[in-house]
Amino acid sequence: NGLQVAIDGPASAGKSTVAKRVAKQFHYIYCDTGAMYRAITLKAIRSGVSFDDVDEIAKIVKASKITFEPADDGQKVFIDGKEITEAIRQEDVTNSVSAVAAIAAVREELSAQQQAIAKDGGIVMDGRDIGTSVLPNAEVKIFLIASVEERAQRRYKENIQKGINTPLNELQLEIEARDYKDSHRKISPLTKADDAVEIDTTSLSINQVVEKIAEVINK
Ligand code: C5P
Repeated sequence: NGLQVAIDGPASAGKSTVAKRVAKQFHYIYCDTGAMYRAITLKAIRSGVSFDDVDEIAKIVKASKITFEPADDGQKVFIDGKEITEAIRQEDVTNSVSAVAAIAAVREELSAQQQAIAKDGGIVMDGRDIGTSVLPNAEVKIFLIASVEERAQRRYKENIQKGINTPLNELQLEIEARDYKDSHRKISPLTKADDAVEIDTTSLSINQVVEKIAEVINK
């Protein structure tokens, strides 16, 4: 059936780009867990629910259905049947998602859904706590890192392609703030699993990173 491959790391370290490629190469399913946290955040914003209103957010996560559909360049994301692939990448969602992801009820529900998605193996799942908490028995655990300057650069280039021109230093501050929140929250904070293979992607190409991960999988 294939293995469980967990890919964790800080924001914009290239997780989803390489995870998609690795999944394709091994004919595995790809699951972007960040998209699930983003989906709940978007729904909270659209419903006008405050991020401090933990009870209301807990209701939202219980009542929502997040689904994925494969697409050429990865996957489409839906909540309650509505496509939100682009909407969850917007700045307002990016800036609030860490607060929503720190809520216990949100993590419990989404982790359970992620475990159900991964249960039969043959999956590449990327996130922050996959190797440490969601799939602690995953056969392959990768922790991707890159310098914050490089990560901001990558985001800058992606943005330019989408016609967005946020200054580089602003992007770097956003990345640092999100990493801080993600690594300092109480429940399953961003951290490298003891048995994860760390790959620094700062000066590697996408292909080089994919190759390194493929080597770990084939070992
Ligand atoms: O990977 P991405 O940047 O889309 O993740 C968005 C946010 O979702 C992260 O900054 C983090 O707050 C949250 N997240 C999480 N646990 C995961 C995946 C994402 O807390 N497994």
